[in-house]
Amino acid sequence: VKGFSGHKVAVLGLGRSGLATARALRAGRAEPVCWDDNPAAREKAEAEGFVCQDLRRQGAFDAIATLIVSPGIPHLYPEPNPVVAAALQAGVPVDNDIGLFFRSLGGAEWDKFDVPPRVVAVTGSNGKSTTAALIHHILTQSGREAQLAGNIGRGVLDIDPGGDGSVVVLELSSYQTELARALTPDVAVFTNLSPDHLDRHGGMGGYFAAKRRLFSEGGPDRAVIGVDEIEGAFLAGQLAEGPGDDRVIRVSVARKLAGPGWQVFARKGFLSEYRKGRQAASIDLRGIKGLPGTHNHQNACSAYAACRALGLAPKMIEDALHSYPGLPHRSQIIAEANGVTFVNDSKATNVDSAVKALGAFKKIRWICGGLEKEGGIAALNDATEEVLCAYVIGREAAAFAMQLSVETRVCTTMAAAVEQAMQDAAPGETILLAPAAASFDQYDNFEQRGDDFVAQVKRRL
Ligand code: ADP
Repeated sequence: VKGFSGHKVAVLGLGRSGLATARALRAGRAEPVCWDDNPAAREKAEAEGFVCQDLRRQGAFDAIATLIVSPGIPHLYPEPNPVVAAALQAGVPVDNDIGLFFRSLGGAEWDKFDVPPRVVAVTGSNGKSTTAALIHHILTQSGREAQLAGNIGRGVLDIDPGGDGSVVVLELSSYQTELARALTPDVAVFTNLSPDHLDRHGGMGGYFAAKRRLFSEGGPDRAVIGVDEIEGAFLAGQLAEGPGDDRVIRVSVARKLAGPGWQVFARKGFLSEYRKGRQAASIDLRGIKGLPGTHNHQNACSAYAACRALGLAPKMIEDALHSYPGLPHRSQIIAEANGVTFVNDSKATNVDSAVKALGAFKKIRWICGGLEKEGGIAALNDATEEVLCAYVIGREAAAFAMQLSVETRVCTTMAAAVEQAMQDAAPGETILLAPAAASFDQYDNFEQRGDDFVAQVKRRL
């Protein structure tokens, strides 16, 4: 990172992205001054030779040029972070690694390129990781050089942007878009909007405003926008000069879109692209194993549109969709044996995402349960049409099972659930892990839970 040579820059939060930021600043001859409330994180930074100073104390920001905040730290809501508040009081600008990255674009580091890297940024409530990974997969399958960074993949200041004509694909959370002082992607994608993390954004309006910033700061050359919620439709309407303006590509999985503009929608398993009132492509999504369910058809449409915006041909994108391997723990087919399909959706940690997973498969033997989230699980009972039996895990498995209206078996452990489900399963059925609950009663995180499922299955095949 250039532009801060000889200046002190404060770095708050010393996780993966905070350390990458400190290293990038040092490489640009700036002087990082680091802080993390956690002493173990500070020790790690000090072991790399970074200076740590308590940024909460009086006068800490006297000689600091800017403050870089890590995405894991709530900066304003529900409580203002004391370090952020101290910086603001001293009149010091607050930014994050994404802002630093965009500000370095076009700078000296990028002069070596004849064709500078292009940046695609993906935001939205759900499907960000899948959409970003899918765009990255399509690009590399088509022979383009591409890097995946941001929330998924590597820290943005950790990547080498690659050679001429390469593409950087960024997944950005609302926290990241809210803080970044520069946001100038070439192509910006807005997947969808549903209530999430509202406490950190001061309500739905703040949450939407944070995501919208990706489209207002300078504005991308092309915007891909999911219009199935009113907020997305509103954003698309604001960005377009008129109905036929193809700076905006509208995406839907709820309806056939109309009008002269550029649009990509999926209905009954078919993706269609229309431009200037003419159909440009049609792709059958139903047989694509890595992208089951309507929610993944939305991800496919968004990724398709972003790649079209980058100039890829429909056929190339179609071929790459077929070879998409899926992301671990997200509706991922992990095995097929004796006619039974095994799917790991450990990332379905809440009722909403489990409902999506249940809608994506037929004849389901469903492994669920764990630490129940606020709001209860009653809504699951509207989505269990294809469930043959639920195999319930978790410390409170019996209480969880009692609330389900399908046949249940109280298994408690993953091993028992997999054992029982495999005994019961017949050819043509699917054994699906989609817990609809957090994992912390039995695991460190959802990844560990998904890995346990995979191990238990593989052991028995
Ligand atoms: P994110 O990065 O936004 O959290 P992921 O791609 O990691 O999204 O998907 C997380 C979970 O959310 C998946 O396991 C799936 O159940 C659900 N999901 C994925 N894509 C969508 C979508 N387009 N709409 C709604 N839910 C989705």
